[in-house]
Amino acid sequence: MAVIVLRCTARCVLGVLQFQSACVCWRTDCLSRWFQNVSGGTAPLSKLCSPFACIEEHLENQLLALLPESDKSRWLSLLKYVDLQQGQSLYASGQSLNHVYFPMGSIVALHGVSQSGLMSELALVGREGMVGIVSFLGGGSSTSDAVVLSSGPAFRMGAQALRHEFENSTAVMSLMLRYTQALISQMAQTSLCNQYHSVEQAMSRLLLLSLDCVQSTELNMTQEVMAQILGVRRERVSQVAVRWQRSKWIQYARGHIAVPDRSALERVSCECYKAIKKEYERLLPSDWVP
Ligand SMILES: [Zn+2]
Repeated sequence: MAVIVLRCTARCVLGVLQFQSACVCWRTDCLSRWFQNVSGGTAPLSKLCSPFACIEEHLENQLLALLPESDKSRWLSLLKYVDLQQGQSLYASGQSLNHVYFPMGSIVALHGVSQSGLMSELALVGREGMVGIVSFLGGGSSTSDAVVLSSGPAFRMGAQALRHEFENSTAVMSLMLRYTQALISQMAQTSLCNQYHSVEQAMSRLLLLSLDCVQSTELNMTQEVMAQILGVRRERVSQVAVRWQRSKWIQYARGHIAVPDRSALERVSCECYKAIKKEYERLLPSDWVP
């Protein structure tokens, strides 16, 4: 039986072993069941721990979670667990894609870059989505860059494999097209926000979306990176951050941001955050079926 070893995640202390037809999570609650099996239990591993249920439990990506069971079991052999590192380039403008990524706690920023190095924020991708839509849209390459904004785990799949799935599964095609529409909506709203709304409003949108990407109240993001993404001077970002810290809305130290008062950010945010969230929830609700 072929064995693929997946490295552990933040919540899965020792690691995950993924077999062809079964998955064993080495967390305390699963470990006893695994030992029970290898020490002479008669039940097949697949009866003890459903492969994708195990992955879903610990490595959440909302697109993967929405796949029908028949597709999930097939995708199990196509996905590879990887750690994405802050600053890592997943693809650059004009390059053809070799892989696509499904973040599960990492954040990837999509942005346009001018020849002189100026950046323009397009969208953030986290647990709710995937990086590499051009793989199934047929264009082969993108005019945007994809850079890891916050380190964390992701599943990686070959771009050609996803293209094949897209062309041969109605459910995958429907899911990916819906996600593409949601991503385009985010890009449009982000463009509007950066052009017409204040730095404080755009910062709150950026932080709220980032927190959603990692489903946490904390994340790693320097003020310099925020300034680059928003296309403003760092001093503007620092002024807002100091004001928010004095109001105890956030705690910032050496690139680590804690947000004890998320509701304050939601109050100061423009309509863009809610508009982006609303469109994602409309297109990809948790109970969506193809
Ligand atoms: Zn806005």
